[in-house]
Amino acid sequence: MINILSPDVYNRIAAGEVVDRPYSVVKELVENAIDAGASEIAVEIEGGGKQKIRVVDNGCGIGRDELFKAYSPHATSKLSAAEDLFTVSTLGFRGEALASIASVSRMRIVSDAGQGAFSLACEGGVLGEVTPSAGAKGTEVTVCDLFYNTPARLKFLKSDSQEEGDVTNMMARFILSRPEISFTYTANGKLKFRSLGEGLPSAIAVVYGASTLDNCLEISADKHGILLHGFIGNRNYSKPNRTYQSLFVNGRYVVNQTVAAAVTNAYAAYLMKRQYPFYVLFLDVPQEIVDVNVHPNKADVRFQDNQIIYGSVYSVISSVLDGNSRAVEYLVGVKEELEREQRERAAAPSVPVPDSTMTYEEAKKELEFDISPNKNGPSEPRFYTPDSIRMAVHAPETSATVETSEDVFAENQRLLREEEHAAAQQRVDVKNLTFKGELFHTYLFYEAGDEAYIVDQHAAHERLIYDRLREKIAARAVVSQPMLVPYLLEVNAAEFAFLTKNFPALREMGFEIEEFGSGCIKVSAVPADLMNINLNAFFGEVLSSMESLRAIRLSDLMKDKLASAACKAAVKGGEYLTDEEARKLLERMDGDMGLKCPHGRPVAVKVKRSEMEKLFKRIV
Ligand code: ADP
Ligand code: MG
Repeated sequence: MINILSPDVYNRIAAGEVVDRPYSVVKELVENAIDAGASEIAVEIEGGGKQKIRVVDNGCGIGRDELFKAYSPHATSKLSAAEDLFTVSTLGFRGEALASIASVSRMRIVSDAGQGAFSLACEGGVLGEVTPSAGAKGTEVTVCDLFYNTPARLKFLKSDSQEEGDVTNMMARFILSRPEISFTYTANGKLKFRSLGEGLPSAIAVVYGASTLDNCLEISADKHGILLHGFIGNRNYSKPNRTYQSLFVNGRYVVNQTVAAAVTNAYAAYLMKRQYPFYVLFLDVPQEIVDVNVHPNKADVRFQDNQIIYGSVYSVISSVLDGNSRAVEYLVGVKEELEREQRERAAAPSVPVPDSTMTYEEAKKELEFDISPNKNGPSEPRFYTPDSIRMAVHAPETSATVETSEDVFAENQRLLREEEHAAAQQRVDVKNLTFKGELFHTYLFYEAGDEAYIVDQHAAHERLIYDRLREKIAARAVVSQPMLVPYLLEVNAAEFAFLTKNFPALREMGFEIEEFGSGCIKVSAVPADLMNINLNAFFGEVLSSMESLRAIRLSDLMKDKLASAACKAAVKGGEYLTDEEARKLLERMDGDMGLKCPHGRPVAVKVKRSEMEKLFKRIV
């Protein structure tokens, strides 16, 4: 016998697809709030979201007569005909989320669309009555006892703290994806995130800590209607896993293999195995070339043509990365000439003007044959130095507009020219380098054919021990070296609280550290790689930047910061190196002259023979 399922049963089955976990409930409710045009959204959860989820927004609200409809399956205000599916710009459109959630929980909506607030509750899919209620303009949805009537599903949930963690990760993504919306997120009464709706740099600071931006490059590129913008970690900035990667396609957080592979491959030359790039990327593509309706949670999208997406993303990211961090060229005299050239170019651009009439199909053809990063034009990415990014944090709205397109032009042209030499510059064969001596106990000189490299001994040394320490931390292979006499540090109450809170990160690095009475800290062992560490200098540095470090919530970021401070304190100044040591240092750099020290300063500078000759007016 074939039964036609009652809507009640049907909804409970369907609910499995859309809502399988507390985080997916939060996701649907927040998406509804965003679709409602809210500028402020507050999310509260209790018991990992199993006990209670509440989402409050100041969006358009649901009118009294619409409240019933909102709960009905396949009821949506966002689509009316099948054709609309191809142009949907809202996050929701299936009209099944509220119905599904309501069928497996005790739910209540209070909403005011401008005619006063009304509320309608629903328990396990059974609707109550619409009653007048108190509430502000907007909507408040409360979901209690999720899956109380589907014990099998309840059993599959993870622990409260794991579920909470998943909700937290997702809230981080919402904050990043909608930097113009102010989000507040609380779990068990504790405030976890508060974003102010002041733009992407500020959203990144909220989620990952302000210092992250120091290690990022901002991207803003347009490849024939495929727009890519956001922040990516510089080539020395890596993460131990993929949780620091966010991709938003047309405003929707997705995990997409094509884009992930393009970004990963662009970084391939720079990151070691098991290091993952950091990125917050927004890919905006024409509606008609992307299908968002391929996944019940809309967690992935399908592109009409993966090749063109891959090519665009790869070329943008790799040209930004390659242009970023190589041995800085020492330009004598050439600099003025370059500036003059730039001025001229700005006045009369000799670069072909982009063909804005090129259609997507034409662009696609072109890109199919050319996905290399060097095909340049004004539609190439903008390059930002860390300084301009820091500026962008303070003045987010101006950062993108102050730069005239001519500046971007000139800048891109300059980087392109550098790029021609890049391959040869990045890596030099150590065997071809001869050590020529040192200057000021700091700078080491190496000669290679018609070029010379000046290496900052301390920066290189710092970078090398930093890399080694981070590798060991990641592999959990840190060795501690006990000290003959323990080091004691007296601190005030705030410093004490700050340090004790970060004991776990310090211990993972190899410090043996503990409380020693009130207001005193005892260090009895240091990481073996940092035998020379000056603990006064290290703690001095850490405590003097305590305020900015405090903003860092993620322990990995904290570890990076601590490690770079520790390496700085471990490198002795004014040290004489023997020729053998100087050669070893370079060997350990593996000839990579594009390295930067953990604080972002270049490790090596290149001088060409011709530039020396210009300096001495041997040639003009
Ligand atoms: P969908 O989002 O796919 O349309 P839902 O079941 O999530 O379906 O929501 C059904 C309808 O309820 C929406 O189309 C919208 O009209 C209304 N709605 C839901 N949440 C809100 C909200 N926070 N503010 C305003 N309207 C809402
Ligand atoms: Mg929805």
